[in-house]
Amino acid sequence: MLATFLVFTSFGAFVGRKEDVITTLALKDSLTNIYNQRFFIERLDQEIANARRYKTPLSLIYFDLDHFKQVNDNYGHPFGDKVLCRVTESIAKIIRVSDTFARVGGEEFVITLPQTTLEAAKIKAEQSRQAIESLLIKDDKKKLVTITISLGVVELNENENQSQLYKRADSNLYLAKNQGRNKVVG
Ligand code: GH3
Ligand code: MG
Ligand code: MG
Repeated sequence: MLATFLVFTSFGAFVGRKEDVITTLALKDSLTNIYNQRFFIERLDQEIANARRYKTPLSLIYFDLDHFKQVNDNYGHPFGDKVLCRVTESIAKIIRVSDTFARVGGEEFVITLPQTTLEAAKIKAEQSRQAIESLLIKDDKKKLVTITISLGVVELNENENQSQLYKRADSNLYLAKNQGRNKVVG
């Protein structure tokens, strides 16, 4: 009886763990362990609905690593991966628990900031920009490498849908790149 109980409970725990792994694989980016694009798209729709329903502001920060191709070319792809992880860790320390941080492309990331105005989101973006600018990442020869990011910031407008919001964030990011990179535009 006890043996049967033990077999069933361990099997239950095993299945539970397997489900956790499957959930993590479906929602998270395997390199950086933050949310993936698929999860982000769903979450942003929910955040937009909440912002409308409760009449609260919602902002979005879209950022991209500057000249990242050069980092890979100069130091190798594994070092590029390390840079992506270090950048992610630094930003994760800055944002709130209620913010959603996701990797939506190779070296492109987004953060949703519920109950946050454009002005407050721009302050957070500037903080993020400075944090990454001051990050020192060691390569395998112990050389210290630096990296910068460019950021586009937007606040949800009345009647705007997800793709329109995203498009505006992308335009601001594009402007930040055109203005010389390592900049916040919003
Ligand atoms: P810009 O400042 O205009 O953004 O220039 P960039 O070089 O960052 O942009 P570009 O789009 O030319 O290159 C992006 C690079 O990101 C090229 C690609 O190899 C690299 N990349 C994408 N995903 C990964 C990844 O998972 N790991 C590594 N190491 N590199 C990646
Ligand atoms: Mg880039
Ligand atoms: Mg890019």
